[in-house]
Amino acid sequence: MTSTDTVSLPTPQFVDDHAAPVELTVDRAHELMREHLRCTAETCGARRSALALLVRVGRYVLDGNSRR
Ligand SMILES: [Zn+2]
Repeated sequence: MTSTDTVSLPTPQFVDDHAAPVELTVDRAHELMREHLRCTAETCGARRSALALLVRVGRYVLDGNSRR
């Protein structure tokens, strides 16, 4: 047994606003997708809104298994 102290990993929170934006542009949606990369659409309104917009305009393909 080593005496390594247990350190808590830093929480990846470079953004603390996960609310769905009132207004959203395609560019902003791309930004949100990067900012909320570690979020899931189930829990993050911002990511969900961005994802929905990008899918709607055809900028984001949900099927990630069809290409190698
Ligand atoms: Zn988020």
